[in-house]
Amino acid sequence: MKSVLDQWIKEKHGISDREGIVRWQTEKVKAMFAYICEKSPFYRKRFKDCESPRDLESFSKLPFLSDEDLRRDGLKMLCVSQGEIERVVTLQTSGTAGRPKRLYFTGEDLELTVDFFCHGMGQIVAPGEKTAVFLPSSAEDSVGKLLLKGLKRRKVIGYGPGPVEDPQASLQLLLREHIHAFVGTPLQALALAEHAKAEHVSLNLKNILVSTDYLADSVRKRIEDGLECRVFNHFGMTETGLGGALECCCRKGMHIRENDLLMEVIDPSDGKAVPDGKEGELVLTTLTRKGMPLIRYRTGDRAVLDHSRCGCGSYLTRIVKTGGRIQGAVSDGKRSVDMAALDEVLFSIDGLLDYGVEYKRKEQRFLFHLVFLGETGGKIRLARQLLEEQFMKKDGVEFELTWETVESWNPQYKGKRYIRCR
Ligand SMILES: [Zn+2]
Repeated sequence: MKSVLDQWIKEKHGISDREGIVRWQTEKVKAMFAYICEKSPFYRKRFKDCESPRDLESFSKLPFLSDEDLRRDGLKMLCVSQGEIERVVTLQTSGTAGRPKRLYFTGEDLELTVDFFCHGMGQIVAPGEKTAVFLPSSAEDSVGKLLLKGLKRRKVIGYGPGPVEDPQASLQLLLREHIHAFVGTPLQALALAEHAKAEHVSLNLKNILVSTDYLADSVRKRIEDGLECRVFNHFGMTETGLGGALECCCRKGMHIRENDLLMEVIDPSDGKAVPDGKEGELVLTTLTRKGMPLIRYRTGDRAVLDHSRCGCGSYLTRIVKTGGRIQGAVSDGKRSVDMAALDEVLFSIDGLLDYGVEYKRKEQRFLFHLVFLGETGGKIRLARQLLEEQFMKKDGVEFELTWETVESWNPQYKGKRYIRCR
């Protein structure tokens, strides 16, 4: 079965092939260029010496937008009056001094997200079935609220308990209500899988959608084994309008909602496009947002694209790999270590619920703190062996391990997970 996004885009815009979406994106970047130059003082100044793009090729020559631009000039990027803004999302980035980053959305912009959620969730759950949303949903127009709105439109019965804090209580909800699917972060799902296994709880789950954080293959496998269901990955960030790209039944990459978003991958060192299959920095353009459109915004996230036709038959470009933040990698001069690679290795250990990692620059030493559910047995030795083999031994990098065993998941990070540097 083709990606549900193909069906959605066909119904919404009458587009059913690659040529059609390229034509659509070309028209949108031309129209967007004219719109932002008319409405936004920031973009007018930024593009004063640039010609209007004729096609996607000339569009890809326009200057990039940086994180710093957003922090400094976010308000000047608005293309509508502030009264038309319905939601402002403030993002504080760890370790960066100064102003936070703010993203502004009109009601129409939020509607694009709800529409994507409504149709995208068709990959996971059918009308009449039940879905729990373990994402923040207390604030109006928060990601959880918008997702619940999309589910309701799809006639799916939604539950919005908020993020998993007590895995036993979340399992009880899934069990009691005979819930068919849930949406959460990879580590929330992993905690539920480990608790379900330990307590011999058998659920009615069919599919799970994970988002927000990097999904390691090892984590996916353990969730699927523990909860006896399929895991689908989703990529999104506030800048993409929360929804971004979604796996199809082939689960070999996430199809981008290319009717709303244009994604490029560039070499971060020289800004040039990299070919399919090669990792680089993800660059985002919003094609349909009205409040604060983003043009060639450097996300700081690593990704690999594939433009070829998917096994499901879809023509939509896929993000076949993500790898977390470019600046999140720690380099000791010889090689770099990042959280995504550590996740792949460490989460292959059964019973590991979470871990924290710190890098002491002066001593060039990593400190790992591992959190296990139940007995550790020989798992500490295994962790040491895996880290030595994969990362540390041949380059002489030092590390220390500490660990704890818990009866309930004890998250090591609030929000994004990263290597803490001291
Ligand atoms: Zn596909």
